[in-house]
Parts: sequence; structure tokens; C-alpha cells
Amino acid sequence: MFQSPAINPDIVPLTAALNPAQKEAVTAPPEHRLVLAGAGSGKTRVLVHRIGWLVAVENISPHSILAVTFTNKAAAEMRGRIEQLINVPVRTMWVGTFHGIAHRMLRLHWREAKLPQNFQILDSDDQQRLVKRILRSLDMPDEQWPPKLVTAFINAQKDEGRRPASLADQGDYAQRQLVRAYTAYQAQCESAGLVDFAELLLRAFELCRDVPEIQAHYRARFRHILVDEFQDTNTLQYAWLRVLAGESGVLFAVGDDDQSIYSWRGAKVENMVRLSRDFPGAEVIRLEQNYRSTGTILKAANGLIAKNSSRLGKNLWTEDGEGAPIQLYAAFNEYDEAEFVVNRMREHLDGRTRHADLAVLYRSNAQSRVLEETLIRQRLPYRIYGGLRFFERMEVKDALAYLRLISNREDDGSFERTVNTPTRGIGATTIERLRQIAREGGMSLWKAAVGAGAVLGRSAGNLKQFIDLIEGLAKETAGEPLSKIMELTIERSGLRDHYKKEKGEQAESRLENLDELINATRGFERPPEDDELDPLNSFLAHAALEAGEGQALAGEDCVQLMTLHSAKGLEFPIVFMVGVENGLFPNQRALDEGNLEEERRLCYVGITRARQQLYISYAEVRRVHGTEQIGSPSIFLRDIPPECVVETRPRAGVLRPSFTGAARNSGNGYGGYGTREPRPRYGEGYNLQRPVIATAQTYGGFKLGAQVRHLKFGEGTIVSFDGDGDRTQVEVRFASAGTKRLMLSQANLQAV
Ligand code: ATP
Ligand code: MG
Repeated sequence: MFQSPAINPDIVPLTAALNPAQKEAVTAPPEHRLVLAGAGSGKTRVLVHRIGWLVAVENISPHSILAVTFTNKAAAEMRGRIEQLINVPVRTMWVGTFHGIAHRMLRLHWREAKLPQNFQILDSDDQQRLVKRILRSLDMPDEQWPPKLVTAFINAQKDEGRRPASLADQGDYAQRQLVRAYTAYQAQCESAGLVDFAELLLRAFELCRDVPEIQAHYRARFRHILVDEFQDTNTLQYAWLRVLAGESGVLFAVGDDDQSIYSWRGAKVENMVRLSRDFPGAEVIRLEQNYRSTGTILKAANGLIAKNSSRLGKNLWTEDGEGAPIQLYAAFNEYDEAEFVVNRMREHLDGRTRHADLAVLYRSNAQSRVLEETLIRQRLPYRIYGGLRFFERMEVKDALAYLRLISNREDDGSFERTVNTPTRGIGATTIERLRQIAREGGMSLWKAAVGAGAVLGRSAGNLKQFIDLIEGLAKETAGEPLSKIMELTIERSGLRDHYKKEKGEQAESRLENLDELINATRGFERPPEDDELDPLNSFLAHAALEAGEGQALAGEDCVQLMTLHSAKGLEFPIVFMVGVENGLFPNQRALDEGNLEEERRLCYVGITRARQQLYISYAEVRRVHGTEQIGSPSIFLRDIPPECVVETRPRAGVLRPSFTGAARNSGNGYGGYGTREPRPRYGEGYNLQRPVIATAQTYGGFKLGAQVRHLKFGEGTIVSFDGDGDRTQVEVRFASAGTKRLMLSQANLQAV
């Protein structure tokens, strides 16, 4: 039984470090509340204190509390902070992400959810492979039905709670085909016991909605439901919260409409408005004092977000001083930019700053590579948060596929992945034959393989060996600790030898990863008390759910790299926001569609991660998908009040004020970044080791950036070249006709 610490509820530390509005939220009576507040105003802190308050003062058992956070890392932190706050272990409290909690329910109630006990989670990569296989079997060619798009269609349906049967036939051929693919995909998942991310949520929702005993159980259990980052809940998550809360559950949601950045994944910021309607009596509490950033950083953030029209409206202020100005750096290219970042980091690292106090935020994952190279060259330890997905690396996935197959022979994806990795003489023809047998007999590949025997001729022996290998491993490892199972699997499967033979640095890191995988299993030898999963399955679920989060480098003090999306909710003393260029941030699609609000919110999220110092940089030339493109400073920079920013040049090492009135009107088209000093010549004063990008190269007599005239489209600027010789393509940004891609040899461009 839970012992409430009510003997001496230490209320003082619980509410002492809160301002009046925060205190009101924390100590509110047990009624629905929505805390609507800007970045860094203490929403997460309020949520944590609220839980502490419920347990310590209101005598609510931790068992009755469900808290939803944005990442598994945040969940672990939250639990730690609550325990610290009230000095009571809260193990029975459910804290996790929507996916994590849904998964837990499905594991506990697999029968009611109509799943096999050992169902496996399909991560996005696995899911796409499966969709691809399904499309092949339905004769839907990749070119016409890109697996990525079909997968997105399926996920979008699930996010809205739609099953194939509930999709009305709209008499549209394409729609009909997509539904056909969805139906076949779902059937395959059902028979193989596979659950994708969207399915986790949908199943858990249906479970709570449709099974009366389960619904009654959780409604009685979870008296208080608390949700962080509420602005990014999707339709299904919201519906699930409603089902769980029922008439008696109390919802406490905190969020910031200005930080809604996942609409592309189905998040509905409208849920913030709906909440007041669907949860009777829900009062809204606003917090406006910011405790995170300097006055300058806040002013920049406020200035930027004020340009969005669809807002619930709020303004942040701080008692802190102005702090240092934001430093803006115009890099020549991405290498120069990375060098700038690392050099500035070095300056900060000479004293009290820890590596982990420094964060680099970027719009797209691909931007990390150059930064990584530079960090490695300059020997700064770094870590990619939520990106360098350890569990998504090839060798790790290979080893996990063996484990999955050992756990569940019906898992066709794992069968396909392992059957000939490492190569054991089972060729594509044999596998195709197996697929056919499986299809015709309505069975798994494993069953097809076991039964196939002589039909397969020469490969039959090899296949038999593979079957024996898996059966042998299953037998031999039964009852062994998980790390032992992992180790044996890596050895016996031949994976270790396979990667040993590969040689080189890459192979070495693969072998290290395999070792690290064995290490990772050690944390799973003893499952948590109230979890019904065996170690193997709980580890496999962990691998699928936490890919990229439980980083291998945990514990080491290192610089943090991450996308702007994964920076949500976090804070760092020093932040570098890189690649702040039109076409990248905001991205091209947003620019083309004139739909900038979500990108602007993302920029707001980026700025508000910084506590003391913010650096912003953009590159004038950047290689994107293998072609050089001329960048221009992001239009978002125009929205930052000029007095918040200084432009910085690396060579002189001095800060020059910019955004002066005169410069603003200098007519350079981007609101002015100050008149430029003559640039140091390329390489001058810089590290000459830097890879040199051939900005001076000419194609058919034209250079990047040249002004040209086209007979039909008029005048424009060359922004990229692609390919060479006769096949060179040129991209021109025309003044009135927009950006066009043309064959250089046929475009008949004239120099202006
Ligand atoms: P985000 O929107 O980015 O998620 P948030 O609103 O959740 O931000 P928190 O992360 O809870 O904000 O708080 C931001 C910082 O301010 C934290 O370092 C927190 O400890 C601190 N803070 C919040 N409230 C107070 C307070 N009353 N006194 C001192 N520090 C505070
Ligand atoms: Mg927060």
C-alpha cells in the first residue's frame, strides 16, 4: 500500500520557488486546468510540482497518476524530480510518452487487444520495408506508389483513428488502391503480430474505448492525468485522453500554441481550444514570466513570433538583465559555418562552461554530417540527441532481427533480414520462391522454409542450416540472462565474423556497436516489478521505442547536436542555431506555399532554448543533395529586432553593429545585414585544410550567382548547377517567373 507522506507535508519547498501564477496552477483544486504559457515560463516545472502537490498534500496515491511527457528522457527526469521534491519513491506512477504508455497497456492487455503475447514493434524503417513488400505483392509499382507516401497515408489514417473498413469508397481509383494497400498491410501485421507506432496508439485507444472492463479499470485508477507539451497532441491522442478521463478523471494540461511544431505529423493545436469545451470547467492559467533566457533573447523571440497571425497571444518578460547580444554569422559555406561554431565553442570551453552546455540546433538531420566532421577533426566530444539512432544502425538492426526471430518465428521482416545476413548461400531466387509458397499457403516465411525442403534444390541444405541455427539458439539460450543471449546470437549467427572481415574504420565501429549492444542488454536483465514483460521482449520494445534516445555516450560530457524539433522542451546556456537560410529554414516548401507559421514557431522554439547566449549563422553557398546552392539569409531574421543582434566576422574577431537604419534601407533585398566589409579572399585567415568548394567553377560559361536572361522567363540569378557536360542542369531564380530548372545546353541563356 502506498504510504502518504502526509505526516509532515513539506509544503514550503513545494511552492516556495514558484511565482503566484505558478502557485495557483500547482495548488489548484482537483478540476481540469490548462496552463497556457510561453517558452521557459515554467510549464514543465509546474507540472512536476503539481504531481508533488497531489501526492504530498492532496494524498493522492502515485498509483492514480498518469503523466504524459514528450520523450522517454523527459519521463525519467520527471520521475527523478518528483522523488526529489517529495522524498518518496513514485514507482507505481505511470510516466511516459503517449507511445510508451500505449505500449505498456497493450503488453498488459494483449488478449483484450487481440494481439499475440509476443507482438513486436515495427519502427518506421521496418514499416516502410514491409509496405514495400506488400506493394510488390499487390503489383503496385514503386514508381507509381512510392512506399514512403503509401506509408504516410496509412499512418495518417491511423492517426485519425480510421481503419480500412471505415474508409468510404469515394469512387476514386487512387484512393481505392491506397485503401487496398492499407488493408493488405494491416492483414500482414495482424498475422505476423506486428505493431507500428501509429498502431500502438490506435490499438490502445480502441482497447480503452471498446472493452468495458478495461475502460472501467483505468478510469477508476487514473484520477489525475497530466500532459506536457499539450499543443502537439494529435486527434487520436486527444480522443484517448478523453476516454481515459471519462467523467471523473481530472486533466491538467500544459502547453504553448507558439511551440506547436508537429502539424506535419498530425498534431492539432486546436486541441488547446477544444479542451475548454470538452472538459467542463477547465480554467486557463497563463504564465508570462520567463526564467530561462536573457532579455535580449526574449525580445528576439517575442519579435519573431509576433509576426504569426494565428496565436492565442502572450508576451514573455524576464526580471533578468539584457545579457549579451545575439551574434549573427554569415558563413561562406557549410564548412566555414561549422568551423565558426567549433571555434566559438572552444572559446567558451576555456573556463567554466561544460561541453553539455553547448548545443547546435539545425533544421534538417543531414546538416549534422559536416558539423560532426569538424567536431571530430577538432577533437570535441559530441552527441547527437535523438538522431544518431544507435538502434537504427545496420549491424544493430541485424543482431536485433535475430533476437526477434528467436522470439517470434512468424516475424517475416526479421526472417528476410537474417536469412542471408551474413551470406550463407540463400539467394534471391530462393527467397522469392519462399515468398511465393508463403503467399499461396497463407503462412509465414518461416513455416514456408521449414516445409519447403526438396522444392528448393541446392539451397535446401543452406536453408536447413539456417533453421537449425535459429532453433538451436532458441533452445540454448532459454533461461539465460539477456546479455548472454545477445552475445551468443552475435557469435553463432556469424555476424561478428562477418563485420570483422569488412575491415577499416567503419567495420571497427560496427564491432564496437555490437559490443555496445551487449552492454545495452545488461540494463534489462531484471524487468521492473509491475511490468509483465520478459527481459528479451522488454529489451526489443525498448530498442524500437527509444531509438536514438538512450544514447551510447550517456554520461560523457559532450557537446549536444540535434534538430530543432527534438530540442523542444530543453534548455542550454549556449545555443548555435545554424543554417538559417531561406530554402532550408524556412524550408522550400513552406516558402513556395507561403505557409510560414509553423516554420516560424520552430524558429521561436530554437531561439527560446538559449539561456545566456545565442549564435545564429547562415551559409552563402551550401551543397544540398549534391548541388551547390546560393543561400540567402532567412526571412525570419528580419523579424528579430535589430538592436538584439550584432554581426560577427571571424577574422577581425570584433563585433560590428548591424541592422542600422541605413543598412536596413540599403536595398540588398533582405532587410539588410549591414554594409559588408570587403570579404577576406577565400581561405585567407581560415583553416586552409578546409575542403574547398569550387564556387568559381563555370558551367557553359556561367558562374553560380550570374545574372542571366531567358527568352520566355526574363531575368534571373543562377542558383545551382547539377550534373556536367551536356547534361548540366541549371536552376535559375527568375524575378517574375519563380525558380526554374533548365537544361543548360538548351536554355539559351544570355549573360546580363
Ligand atoms: P518550454 O516551453 O520550453 O517547455 P517551460 O515552460 O516548460 O519551457 P521550464 O522548463 O519548466 O519551462 O522552466 C524553464 C526554466 O526556468 C527552468 O530552468 C526552470 O527551472 C526555471 N524556472 C521556472 N520557474 C521558476 C521559478 N519560479 N523560479 C526559478 N526558476 C524557475
Ligand atoms: Mg517544458
